[in-house]
Amino acid sequence: MNLNRTAILFLVVILAACTASKPPLYRYEFFAFGTVIELTVYGVDATTAERAYDQLVNDFNYMHNTWHAWREGTLVHTNRLLAAGKPFRADDSIRQLVEASKALSAESGGLFNPAIGKLVALWGFHSDALPSTPPDKVAIDALLKQRPRMEDISVDHGTLQTDNSAVQLDFGGIAKGYGIDRAIDQLRALGIDNAIVNAGGDLRAIGRRGARPWRIGIRHPRAHGVVASVEIEGNDSIFTSGDYERYYIFDGKRYHHILDPRTGYPTDGVMSVTVLHKVAAVADAAATALFVAGPETWQEIARNMNIAYGMLIDSQGQIDLTPDMAQRLDFTIDPSAGIQLSAEQ
Ligand code: AMP
Ligand code: MG
Repeated sequence: MNLNRTAILFLVVILAACTASKPPLYRYEFFAFGTVIELTVYGVDATTAERAYDQLVNDFNYMHNTWHAWREGTLVHTNRLLAAGKPFRADDSIRQLVEASKALSAESGGLFNPAIGKLVALWGFHSDALPSTPPDKVAIDALLKQRPRMEDISVDHGTLQTDNSAVQLDFGGIAKGYGIDRAIDQLRALGIDNAIVNAGGDLRAIGRRGARPWRIGIRHPRAHGVVASVEIEGNDSIFTSGDYERYYIFDGKRYHHILDPRTGYPTDGVMSVTVLHKVAAVADAAATALFVAGPETWQEIARNMNIAYGMLIDSQGQIDLTPDMAQRLDFTIDPSAGIQLSAEQ
């Protein structure tokens, strides 16, 4: 799809209020990372807002093409060079993603592991169309035996190298967050202090909406609407990993796209994990890691990753919160009753 054209088609500018006393709110939409990106800007003139939108369309377009896990592009080329085993000079943004991911992977005890690209591909998620059957256990076990990990990649003066030919980078668990952080930097450089960059419900918000904080909804994992909302003022990101985002049903069982590097299978027992953190890349990676950790150990991994605000909804719909998150969320449902599920869910 031609992203620039799509961006123009999707462009929606809403001048919510344009009286002299109330600065306007601008809202734009465009398509990248397989989702609608929404930019909301408050309290600047139309020219600045328009400029921000133009820059973000170009930047997200670049990131989308550079970090794509399976379409021919910079990351696919990088993975070929990694597989060859020799050191090579990597694209700057990919090197930065590798460095950030190595640190986050270590903090998560390897549960966040962007080196498992081959496993994600084996499960059929490196395709726009979803598969209908899970892979062979033999093939999964063969990959697991080679233990691809971020530690296997060495970074030395901008060059990357690995001896593990099973390593294949897939930044699906962090790219949106990392991209949103870059977008927020760009907005700030343009003098924009009040904004939201939202990629399909995962977002970072800075500043406020005039006299009020931003209010953000957390979507229900099995129905339209939200389970809770949260106020953001200053700077915060909120990211959710869910079993409802990319999945297929085989033999009555849901196979989703978040894989446990220890077993090679999609994590059982979790419906969604939401994380709030200042840095979007950290919130994104942590949501993926805590999802993989599962209902028993997610709070322990959250502490290791310095995540104060987390919510896990297990596959029965029960809601578990970190103490700080319990203080912060405004629920639209009774959290102690959990999510009500219909028979087929
Ligand atoms: P998210 O929605 O942020 O949790 O990201 C899910 C995506 O991250 C998947 O579609 C895969 O591309 C990738 N992924 C799956 N399992 C893992 C994992 N254990 N660690 C890191 N990335 C993963
Ligand atoms: Mg993530």
